[in-house]
Amino acid sequence: MNLLERLAEMDGEQVVFCHDALAGLRGLIAIHDTTLGPAMGGLRIHPYPSEEEALEDALRLSRAMTMKASAAGLNLGGGCAVVICDLRQGKSEALLRAFGRQVEGLGGRFTIAEDAGTTVEDMETIAQETRYVVGLNKRRGGSGDPALKAALGVFHGIQACLEAVFGDRGLRNRRVAIQGVGAVGLELARLLGEEGAALVVADTDSRRIDKVRTFLQAEVVAPEKISGVDCDVFSPCALGGVLTEAAVAGLRARIVAGSANNQLESERVGDLLHARGITYAPDFVINAGGLINAAEELQGYDETTANAKIGKLFQTIQTILRLAREKSIPSHVAANQWAQDRIRVIRDVRRTFLPAEH
Ligand code: NAD
Repeated sequence: MNLLERLAEMDGEQVVFCHDALAGLRGLIAIHDTTLGPAMGGLRIHPYPSEEEALEDALRLSRAMTMKASAAGLNLGGGCAVVICDLRQGKSEALLRAFGRQVEGLGGRFTIAEDAGTTVEDMETIAQETRYVVGLNKRRGGSGDPALKAALGVFHGIQACLEAVFGDRGLRNRRVAIQGVGAVGLELARLLGEEGAALVVADTDSRRIDKVRTFLQAEVVAPEKISGVDCDVFSPCALGGVLTEAAVAGLRARIVAGSANNQLESERVGDLLHARGITYAPDFVINAGGLINAAEELQGYDETTANAKIGKLFQTIQTILRLAREKSIPSHVAANQWAQDRIRVIRDVRRTFLPAEH
């Protein structure tokens, strides 16, 4: 792979390769775009089969973070860190701290957060070496588990979709089918259930279903049935790529709104949703609650303020759905335009010379 060519294709800014033999560190940090502010992104620890796959994942995720931060109105850019490591061998303290030192060396151009394969405890370990880490324990003034806030954002986004489709955001007697009741899906089910929604859930892990049953009333269906359930809202909260052409053809919901990243298998699937008149809440917009919450930590975390900012996802989703309607374009296209426009306009605004910046 020609690395620089790939970076140019992705319109990325910088890739930093990180190595520490003693700590067993092999990883990289991709910084996609810092027009709006310093890059923020998750640390993904995964046994990537090759360096190319690790780099590709980091480039893709860093670009997605740029879009997510922009759409959420945050003054942050997009970044992503990946470490190639077999999790069965465990994440050593040395590995995490060595990585923290690499992050510190970037002087604040990149702030690290939790992602697949990392935990709040890992962020605490990393914080011993760098100031540029968020997602710390609430006891330490951190913002805690991002999944709960991702769920809160999806909850507001679903209400915005209901308002757009039915003229009423109320959840009483609305039927919501949730695919995946993991960290985000379970909390979302709780929030929706509290507001009187009828729930249908599916999960490939029976322990997760047992957990739902301990405190919620929900109908359970087989994982392969959930996308075809007759309901108002289908909420994908498991994996990416679940919205395939076949899945969209079988949808009986009026709205698709969930937390999973990269829900559309392809752009064409977004067009199909639009053609079928199904209201789709673009994934990178509706699932930004975790990022908004973590970003709050940079200012000194206050949960009330964070929740209020996450609540604004209601207006953001409304705005994007309105733009899509006015321009007769699919909502995923409207969301991309909305996020890119903000970056372009702010880049232009910041062309004015300020003595203090020099
Ligand atoms: P999780 O691993 O805790 O939960 C995912 C659940 O989906 C698991 O219970 C799993 O058993 C289930 N599942 C997997 N395949 C399934 C299938 N085919 N059908 C039904 N269930 C299936 O993950 P999470 O943290 O809840 O995240 C869920 C999604 O939301 C992911 O796509 C993630 O990238 C995205 N997301 C998460 C956050 C966050 O802060 N956790 C933030 C934004 C976006």
